[in-house]
Amino acid sequence: MADGIIPRFYEEAVSLLDNKELTIITDQADLMIKNPLNIIKRKKNAVHIGATATLEAVKTCPHVPEILRKAIASLGSPKVRHTRTIGDSICYASPAGETLPPLYLLEAEVVCQKVDNERRMPIEAFIKGPGETVLEENESLREIIIKKQALTTFYYKKVGGRKADVSKISFTGAALVKNQKIKDIRVVFGGVAPCVIKKPEIEKQLIGLSRYEIKFKREWIKHLYESYIKPLDNQESSIEYKKDRSLKLLDDFILNL
Ligand SMILES: Cc1cc2nc3c(=O)[nH]c(=O)nc-3n(C[C@H](O)[C@H](O)[C@H](O)COP(=O)(O)OP(=O)(O)OC[C@H]3O[C@@H](n4cnc5c(N)ncnc54)[C@H](O)[C@@H]3O)c2cc1C
Repeated sequence: MADGIIPRFYEEAVSLLDNKELTIITDQADLMIKNPLNIIKRKKNAVHIGATATLEAVKTCPHVPEILRKAIASLGSPKVRHTRTIGDSICYASPAGETLPPLYLLEAEVVCQKVDNERRMPIEAFIKGPGETVLEENESLREIIIKKQALTTFYYKKVGGRKADVSKISFTGAALVKNQKIKDIRVVFGGVAPCVIKKPEIEKQLIGLSRYEIKFKREWIKHLYESYIKPLDNQESSIEYKKDRSLKLLDDFILNL
């Protein structure tokens, strides 16, 4: 049986990682005397979420954008939300999980910490593929940073029950509409490709359209996304079903703008 070490301070945890081959188990993080990773705080124009904040703490924190709180509220059971942390949900790197799509939508950044170095990167650069991240062996995920957003419309829907350990497919959308014009728009698909899908190059093409024009161009927009939606076939539902549902959710989002 493997030995466990419970560090008393975060600095000690980071330095242990540097010296030994260890696996991080965050359920023990609460036992640290001083754990800055549990804290969620607002600094200037951003909210900083410590990686070992529980999903429940993130869900109930008023500083956290509503779209992320809403997605977490639909995740698993209260037991899962009270014991699992935002950090292990991110490091779990499931494209079908609830936390990654809103984090992609909000263009969140993550901070990785080594004993003598830290690096900050966008969430999409952190996730390499299903269950894979760019974290190095002696590195931990320290915090998630979400800048204040000028978005007015939010849309989140998932297809799949709470019983599954992750949702089947999800669609997350947001926009800023001013004077009937699209000033900003974000479109994110979850569970239909090895990584969560967000395509800034397509979003840019939609900025500047009027509410009327974007609704009129729905078929063209669906066509732009179609080739990126490559779900896996499984016993629960076919590729065609997942693709069709994802594009219908996009359609519904645009119609509700
Ligand atoms: C019954 C059940 C239902 C669930 N339902 C859902 C659901 O509906 N939707 C959903 O999205 N998810 C769901 N989950 C997944 C859950 O939210 C967790 O994301 C997932 O289980 C990973 O947590 P873990 O404790 O198993 O992670 P672990 O295996 O402990 O962590 C995952 C990996 O991340 C590493 N890690 C964790 N924290 C850090 C850190 N700070 N720095 C560096 N590495 C770190 C660990 O070492 C490990 O390699 C469910 C899980 C269960 C058990």
